[in-house]
Formats: sequence, structure tokens, C-alpha cells
Amino acid sequence: MLIINVRPWGGNAVDIEVRDGRIAALHPAGTAAVNAGTAGGAVDGRHRIAIPAFTDVHVHLDSTRIGLPFREHTGGPGVWNMMCNDRENWRDTPIPYPEVVAGTLERMIARGTTRVRSYAQVDVDCRLERFEAVLAAKERFARAATVEIMAFPQAGLLLEDGTVPLLEDALRAGATTIGGIDPCQLDRDPVRHLDIVFGLAERYGVDVDIHLHEPGHLGVFSAELIFERTRALGMQGRVSLSHAYDLANVHPDVSARLLEQMAELDIAWATVAPASGGTQFDLARMTDAGIRVGLGEDGQRDYWSPYGNCDMLDRAWQLAFTHRLRKDRLIEHCAAIATVGGASIMDRAVRRLTSPDDRPGLAVGDEADIVLVDGETVTSTVMDRGADRTVIHDGRVVADGLSVLPDPAA
Ligand SMILES: [Zn+2]
Repeated sequence: MLIINVRPWGGNAVDIEVRDGRIAALHPAGTAAVNAGTAGGAVDGRHRIAIPAFTDVHVHLDSTRIGLPFREHTGGPGVWNMMCNDRENWRDTPIPYPEVVAGTLERMIARGTTRVRSYAQVDVDCRLERFEAVLAAKERFARAATVEIMAFPQAGLLLEDGTVPLLEDALRAGATTIGGIDPCQLDRDPVRHLDIVFGLAERYGVDVDIHLHEPGHLGVFSAELIFERTRALGMQGRVSLSHAYDLANVHPDVSARLLEQMAELDIAWATVAPASGGTQFDLARMTDAGIRVGLGEDGQRDYWSPYGNCDMLDRAWQLAFTHRLRKDRLIEHCAAIATVGGASIMDRAVRRLTSPDDRPGLAVGDEADIVLVDGETVTSTVMDRGADRTVIHDGRVVADGLSVLPDPAA
């Protein structure tokens, strides 16, 4: 495959030669057709910007009303009330739920996301119904995107009998990460909660991700229990904290200590770029410290929140906005987090960002997961969020003009 006349990370125009799903060569624009002897069948980049395809490392594909009529938000405050609001309503869809889930993934791919780490809620209400819907969507779009599934106890582990065996069923059925959530605030027994989560990780050989919405020092306490278990089980590089926004909102010495431990234990951070009245983590400082940072969209237009539109370029804008960034290099760093930053969390073989100025992902040997998008510079692209996009995955154009193309092999 040839992708002609594109500007990698907004640089000089090149032609990209792709072989076996990887970037095989970069030629000055206008010369590749001759070199490769394949004048026909090239993808016309039309001088657009090429960036690595997006990675969403924190999405709830099973918590979505994308594609359904807009609905007034009815959730009460707090995780438990929101969970109950979802539990009362999620089955109420005019089309089968698996179609809503698959439609959400399709819309994400159409906008340039080809790597997805999705939660699947597992509890005594939905049992494996939501997990199976995410699994079916993953299989349906297996040639257009790489999807990893987390078994996620949204309703806690200890409040309702029967959750843990269901999580084990999901792990046996293909979940590759086990989730946990607010060990102090939700289950009110952090040691037991985390011992169960890490115990399952050890037994099934899967990664761990903990949703942490806990405020201030309560969150710090939970985080340090997570660090202890990561160290004790030798799980360095296999644990991530999601949200954890309030860990930046404590005394600077305390948050510095947390970042040091995250770097030492190679614990990644997945943010959904929430609004915050307090201090936000410094993204550049985290990357400089060697901490992998990824971005996600969380639930989209669901029973928790009306936000989210399947567009990681929008979310990259939101990351820059909520971190109050103005400098081009730092806004481009947000684009790098939304693409290769997340990829290095999902796949430890993907090279992590080494500095806020690092722009990897489009070199010879890299996987040819690429989005072409209109714009003058990468920063202007983040600001304008252009709609003229072409998405390439595994040596094939999988989406164009915000639509997923039919799979020729299907
Ligand atoms: Zn979430």
C-alpha cells in the first residue's frame, strides 16, 4: 500500500509505503510510486496531516446511548446513584443493546480510533450480558481495530453477593484486564477490595486497572495500597490508574511522592480529561518522568453523562483545554498522548513517549495505524478537529469520510 502526499506530524510531505501492516519506507512526496512500482491503488493523502491512529484507553463501550435519541440526564450525585440510574435504564433501547455497543465502536473507528481498551460492566444485574455485547463488537470489527476488554465491577465487589464469580467467568471468556473501583469509598473495605482484584490478576495472568474517583488523601491512601500490591506481586508495567484526578490536588510534596512511585513501578495513568476546579497533573512532567499517560472518552452519552461523541480528536482538544495549555508543543503532546501514549499502555511493545517533544509512531517499522486529517499544523488540527479523515489499520483503509468501509474479506 502507498499513501501519497501526506505530512507526518505536520512536517514535510512524504509518500508512505506500507508492507505487512507496517511502515516500510518514507519517500519524498511524489517519488514513491516510481520507487515501489505501484502507481495505481495508492491512497491520496491530499497533503493532509498524518498522525498515528488514536488509542482510547478508557472507554465504556457497554455504557453508551450513541446513535439513540437524546435523553434527559436523570442520574443522582455519586458513583452508587449513577450506577443505579444506569441499572434502571440501560436495557431500555429501541434496538438490541449489542447493536448500540457495536455502533459506538464503529463510530469511533470512523473518526480514527483503531486501538480501544474497553470496560465491560460485570455485576449481579447484567451478569455477562454487557461483556458479551462488547466481545461481539470486538469480533465484528476485528479487522478494523484492536479491542481489549476489562472485566469491571462497576457496582463494587463486596456490596452484592455473586459479583466475583461472574468476574471470573469474564476473565475465562477473554477479558485481559481486571478492574477495581474506589476501594475505600464504594466498598468501604480497601484491603479486601484490592486483595480480590490483585488476586484475580495473579490467578488469571491479567493486568489491573483501578477507577479512582476518591478525593484527596482518601485517594492517596488507596493509591499507596495499589502501589504496595503492584510491588509485592511484581506487577510493574501491568497496572494503571484511571481518573485519579484528585491525586494532583494534594500537597505538592505528596503528589510528587506519588508520581515517583508511579514511575518506579511503571504504573500508567489513564485520564478522560475531566473538568477540575483543582490542580491537574502536569502532563509534560509525567512524560518526562517516564510515566505512560493515555486518554479515553469514558462512557459516551450514557446514563452517567451526556458528554462524548466517539471522537478522540475532540477529547485531545479537551485534554489540552482542561490542562490550560497554549503552547503548540504541549498541545501536540496531547495529540501524542491520545495516539501513541495510550498505545504504549495497551501494548508494552509500543515505544513510550520519552519527552513532551517526542512525536513517534510514523517511522519505518512502526505499525501502519494512521489517521489522515485536514489541518495546517497538528495544533490547528486539534483546535479545528477537521472532518476530512482517512483511517488506515493493518495495511488497509478501514474508514474514510467519517464512515467505516465494508470489510472486503467479510
Ligand atoms: Zn470510566
